[in-house]
Amino acid sequence: MTAWGAWLKPPRTLLLILSLVTLVSVSALGWFGWKLLDQERMVEAQRVQERLEQTADRLAATLRGTLAEAGERLGASAANAPDDGLLLTLQANTLTANPPNRLLYYPSPPPEPEAAPAVFAEAESLEFLQAQPQAAADEYRKLADSGNTAVRAGALVRLGRVLRRAGRDRESLTAYDRLAALRGVRVAGAPADLVARLAASELSGSRSEAHILRSDLLAGRWRLNRGQFQFYWQRASRLSGDAAELPADSVALSEAAWLVWQQRDDESNLRRQQTVWIGGRPYFLLWRGTPGRHFVLVARPDSILKPLIAGHGALYALTDAEGRVVAGRRSRAGRAAVRTAAESQLPWTLYVTGRPALSTAPVAAQQKFLVSAIVVMVLFLILGSYFIARAIRREMEVSRIQSDFVAAVSHEFRSPLTSIRQLSEILALGRAPSDERRQVYYETLVRESSRLQRLVEALLNFGRMEAQGRQFRFEEVDTRALVEHVVSEFEPQVVGLGRHIELHGTESRCAIQADPEAIAVALRNLVDNAVKYSPECPTVWVEWDVENEYVAIRVRDRGPGIAESERKAIFRKFVRGTAAAARNVKGSGLGLAMVQHIVAAHRGQIRLASQPGQGSTFTMLLPVTGKS
Ligand code: ADP
Repeated sequence: MTAWGAWLKPPRTLLLILSLVTLVSVSALGWFGWKLLDQERMVEAQRVQERLEQTADRLAATLRGTLAEAGERLGASAANAPDDGLLLTLQANTLTANPPNRLLYYPSPPPEPEAAPAVFAEAESLEFLQAQPQAAADEYRKLADSGNTAVRAGALVRLGRVLRRAGRDRESLTAYDRLAALRGVRVAGAPADLVARLAASELSGSRSEAHILRSDLLAGRWRLNRGQFQFYWQRASRLSGDAAELPADSVALSEAAWLVWQQRDDESNLRRQQTVWIGGRPYFLLWRGTPGRHFVLVARPDSILKPLIAGHGALYALTDAEGRVVAGRRSRAGRAAVRTAAESQLPWTLYVTGRPALSTAPVAAQQKFLVSAIVVMVLFLILGSYFIARAIRREMEVSRIQSDFVAAVSHEFRSPLTSIRQLSEILALGRAPSDERRQVYYETLVRESSRLQRLVEALLNFGRMEAQGRQFRFEEVDTRALVEHVVSEFEPQVVGLGRHIELHGTESRCAIQADPEAIAVALRNLVDNAVKYSPECPTVWVEWDVENEYVAIRVRDRGPGIAESERKAIFRKFVRGTAAAARNVKGSGLGLAMVQHIVAAHRGQIRLASQPGQGSTFTMLLPVTGKS
């Protein structure tokens, strides 16, 4: 039968089925666990998504409300200027900003007066055409005393100029000082005091003056247009000797005002809103008003969104139609709830993204518990199957040993029985050729029947011993006498084979407290084995002496020896070793088990020393003064 065939026969099939059942159960358990975890994860993801959707709805509604409210307040001109934005009013072709100092320059023309150039035509003709600076200066001085501030300003700036060109710096400075004191008038389109201060700084070369001028420009002290602002800023910066960056926010707001100004005539929709990008920054423009009068709120979308989302455990972002983020932060990882501009009626698309904080810790704990429970169950299953498999294997081993025993014993019975039957038939039919031959047959009959008897007795003895049924009768036994008696029983058999048993023992009498019959059985088994398993070597040795508290009886042979791995097993009942199998030696596997049993009943020990290939020595150690 092939190896696979053997596995399909009981009880191995049991092992196979058990392994399959275990495998299937473990796989099923693992699969269910995995599915359960997966479901758990899906439910959790769904919960997170729902929460995000709710947050997105809530936030969109709040944002809508905020914008509507801002629009209403703007329409009723009751709006406050935002922290980092502006409120612009467009009316009668002028633009006003609140707060005014956030704009560096304005798109609309200034409302301030300026003297007509014709007033200075005569004096300028003296200055430039007739090259009479002194006369021109006198003329300008006269005009500088005019009651009209605009004329005064125009005259003073020209006086300063003509005196400077004449090299009369001190007088020129005095003229500029007077001019700097004038407010609300313009010369050559620029505020008179600004013109005066720049000219005076240039004349005196004062850096500190230039610095102050620059900070006044930044503070929005004068209402300038973009070109004027840039001109004065550059001149003041050059004079001050260091370059300074213009604040990007103020520039962007000024540009936003300019954009608003461009649209001042568009009255098609007075309630509009826009997102514009200026210098890489987004600005939100909200328009309200009536024809001819517009209010515009300019704000960073971030400043609208931030107060609404404070304290939320999610990431928010607003994007414009082109997908650019105008406020908040957009995370591309994780789950997100999206509200498009059309859905939410907001000027932007709203993204709400989950944060790790949203994936809750209790779920992780639950998952951990589930995984541990499954692992424990799988372990139990595997352990259980292992123990069952071990039990089945033991059963298999026992049944194998028993069937080996039955085979061995029946063989033991069959051969003497066969020869007894054949010989008795010959004798009964009177077919023995001679008296001598008949005598040989009788002797063989005696030998074979006593072999049978010994076998039956061995079996019965062993059975009784195992069932604790044999009563040992202890008495003082002389070791030498016992050994010699047992060995003499073997003499005829051994001599017939051309072999002999050598005895060595101490001269002094060493007595043991023992059951002589039982010890004789044990010794017989050992001698029988030594003779059986070493047919190549003619001698077997039996020795005895005293070792400490024990009498040691040794049976030594030069047979095949016993491998280390077998030395324990051969003392178990029905176990037969490789020596028996290799030499096809008859036996039952009971001999050594019996020896061990008997020795143990005498409170002794059995010792085995063996060198494979060299021989074996079995030693029975029996207490010198053994008492039952
Ligand atoms: P049996 O001799 O009937 O097989 P035993 O219990 O007496 O049973 O011995 C068990 C096994 O121990 C033997 O089958 C044999 O393999 C091994 N054995 C016992 N005595 C010897 C020996 N003297 N030399 C080698 N092997 C031995």
